[in-house]
Amino acid sequence: MEILDKIPFLINKDALMRQLMIEKDSEDEKEFDELIQLAIQCGRPKAVFLQAFIDEKTNDGVVINGITFTSKTLRHNLSDVQRIFPFVITCGTEMDDHFPPGSDILKDFWWDALKMQLLNAARLTLRKHLSERFRLGKTASMSPGSGDVGIWHIEQQRQLFALLGDVKNAIGVELTDTCLMVPNKTGSGILYPAQIDFQGCEVCHRENCPSRRAAFNASLWEEIQPGSR
Ligand code: SF4
Repeated sequence: MEILDKIPFLINKDALMRQLMIEKDSEDEKEFDELIQLAIQCGRPKAVFLQAFIDEKTNDGVVINGITFTSKTLRHNLSDVQRIFPFVITCGTEMDDHFPPGSDILKDFWWDALKMQLLNAARLTLRKHLSERFRLGKTASMSPGSGDVGIWHIEQQRQLFALLGDVKNAIGVELTDTCLMVPNKTGSGILYPAQIDFQGCEVCHRENCPSRRAAFNASLWEEIQPGSR
């Protein structure tokens, strides 16, 4: 497992103020400025990844380094792939250390938005690092728990963490008994070379989701249903 822990980040204050509906020249802006300064001082986004190869492709999943991952969609997306990159990216535990959740609902909300900026910085840095170092070209990724229930069960976070190794020791991220990751602004998944992009949203029926990044893809959905292969 390799660690990226010197990840630069920028905070887009104007965009965040619009997103959080903070008025210019208000008291809220002053308080938000203080949080931005704190985030700049303490924020340490991080990533870990591993280069791994698929041992076996089964009807409904893949085996990687002896660990079985069960997901028909993952199997479908890795049909032409042998080398994959499991990863965890995070805003960093320092953000919770310096501003523990629960002190103020509104500021918690603002702090979460700042944590999200750090997480996005970790995501971009990891993708760039992998693309440059391994000459990957186009890539896509899948995460346990994204898309409709059952696309790739969130419980498979356990297998993903087992594949990576001691993630907590490396970057402080903990997996809870219910397979959530702490700190909350943390992401995980498998990145792979892909000619066609994939987003979990393409196989998610949830309507009016404010975070949707891609339209529902009916033909892909049909392809991954039981008995379609
Ligand atoms: S549509 Fe919303 S709930 Fe569904 S996978 Fe995308 S972000 Fe998640």
